[in-house]
Amino acid sequence: MCGIIGYVGFLDAKKTLIDGLQTLEYRGYDSAGISFFTDDGIQTLKTIGKVSALRDLVQANENNAPSTCGIGHTRWATHGGVSTRNAHPHTAGKVTLIHNGIIENYQELQKELEEKGKKPVSQTDSEIAAMVIDDCYRGNPEEAIRLAADKLTGSYGFCIMFEDIPETIFALRCGSPLVAAHTKNGSIIASDMVALVNHTNHYFVLKEKHIAVISKDEIIVKDEYGDIYGPTIHHISWDVGAAKKGGYDHFMMKEIHEQPDSLRNTITPRFIGGMPDFSADQVSDELFENVNRVVITACGSAMHAGLIGRNMIERLARIPVSVDIASEFRYQNPIIDKQTLVITISQSGETADTIAALRLAKSKGAKTLSVVNVKGSSVARESDYVLYTHAGPEISVCSTKAYTVQVAVMYLIAFRLAYVSGQISEEETKTYMHHLVGVAEQVEETLGFDSQVANIAKRIAGAGSIFFIGRGLDHALSCEGSLKLKEISYIHSEAYAAGELKHGTISLITDNVPVIALATQPDVYAKVISNVQEVRSRGAKIILITDRNASVDPSLCDHQIVLPETSPLFTPFVSAVVLQYLAYYVSVEKGLNVDQPRNLAKSVTVE
Ligand code: GLU
Repeated sequence: MCGIIGYVGFLDAKKTLIDGLQTLEYRGYDSAGISFFTDDGIQTLKTIGKVSALRDLVQANENNAPSTCGIGHTRWATHGGVSTRNAHPHTAGKVTLIHNGIIENYQELQKELEEKGKKPVSQTDSEIAAMVIDDCYRGNPEEAIRLAADKLTGSYGFCIMFEDIPETIFALRCGSPLVAAHTKNGSIIASDMVALVNHTNHYFVLKEKHIAVISKDEIIVKDEYGDIYGPTIHHISWDVGAAKKGGYDHFMMKEIHEQPDSLRNTITPRFIGGMPDFSADQVSDELFENVNRVVITACGSAMHAGLIGRNMIERLARIPVSVDIASEFRYQNPIIDKQTLVITISQSGETADTIAALRLAKSKGAKTLSVVNVKGSSVARESDYVLYTHAGPEISVCSTKAYTVQVAVMYLIAFRLAYVSGQISEEETKTYMHHLVGVAEQVEETLGFDSQVANIAKRIAGAGSIFFIGRGLDHALSCEGSLKLKEISYIHSEAYAAGELKHGTISLITDNVPVIALATQPDVYAKVISNVQEVRSRGAKIILITDRNASVDPSLCDHQIVLPETSPLFTPFVSAVVLQYLAYYVSVEKGLNVDQPRNLAKSVTVE
């Protein structure tokens, strides 16, 4: 996490850095800081709190010397509490640095430095990295960075300035993301291209272990042997407006409303001749032939998209699927071989645990396919095959549109896999595709449920705990609904397979505990209703989500939400919108920060 940015050029560096940090704030908002070259050397300004606090600090700074080169950071603290002293940038001797990641061996390195009489002033791992680089510095910055990198273990994206090399920024990364661009106004580097779109629509991804030497006239990239390297330039297909709120109160609401378009953008290019078609993605059917097991690995909402993927693949392709949390998968010596298809899912493509899981799968000879939103990201680059989702930038920490397009791609994979493995006919595949193409419109219709859901949200916002229950696809949705609610409302919540509640957890159901019951699947509808009765008779307040055809006894629930007409296998798309709205309105009702919930950050680039 953490957002980092470096700029050198013809514009006001302080303003450029702070504007850029504002767009990166979703990556962390514990503290913010900038360092910049002035005629009197490097100056640093940092503060706890958000980028707006940094902007105020910079404006109030009397000694406001002009600058055209600097680095900036918005922090999600991992090592050392939230304090101004622990805020980045960190300076050690001639070196000033910002860091995204975790230096795992910082204690060992600190001990070595202390033996040399060098003591850190903060509690961060990042300051130790600055000290190690300074300790290696004898006038050649690249040599010092390389020597230091050999000593560091863990993950890092660094932007580094040397006091005696003005108007130049050096960057290096291992694990954490960095993208850069040279423009007519100078050169810019950042954790994410959302910080670049105000300046350019072209960028390149700095490869791991490559060093970028960034000056106003050019960016020189050198590979691990010190040879000059010409990076591949990518094009940003969305514009500046996509990363702005566009009249909505929160990014989350804007992103909920963008779902019909993201679904269309993701599904339509792969809908050819009525069939799911990945030829434009260069994913041939060979990948799906002779697959005897599928392993899906991801984190958070992406993992929940994987749960839906499992249901669809097992149901249609009749191939066993397991879904593993990436942070567990990577340490459990998973059983995979050449006939295993490992699917990794990540919005940013930079999720540290997912990258590690992918690398492990590859080392065991599995075929790897990734579902990623960000072009050229680490997961995309390192997978054998990639299916990009086309959600555009997602700024709200709480995922909405990135999740539903991941679900859509899981459906496409299930259809193609089932068809290639001979489990469903061409005609059946076309029928499924016909339904999938229709979901964008059904999601559009569900967007009209806002006031109904907002009213329900008002009634449950005071609860201390909320349960989500469902079976099959509805259970997978319950997991996502519960996560959304926890993330942004700070209400404790559990997602349970409806039939499992009575095996222990039903003891937590007391008078007025709200239970959100999803009962959209006809094959298990009666079973879910029995489970609803069980909690109802313990006093639970029931919010029942059903499809059009369910006939519900009004005494069974306090509120019923009837979804738009859809085929049962495709309800996850519309249910997702209802659950997103529910979390959103509860958060608003409680007056919380919807887009930047406490303790969280998007794009989890640390373990
Ligand atoms: N480990 C550094 C700190 O705590 C950077 C954290 C991060 O990138 O999330 O300051």
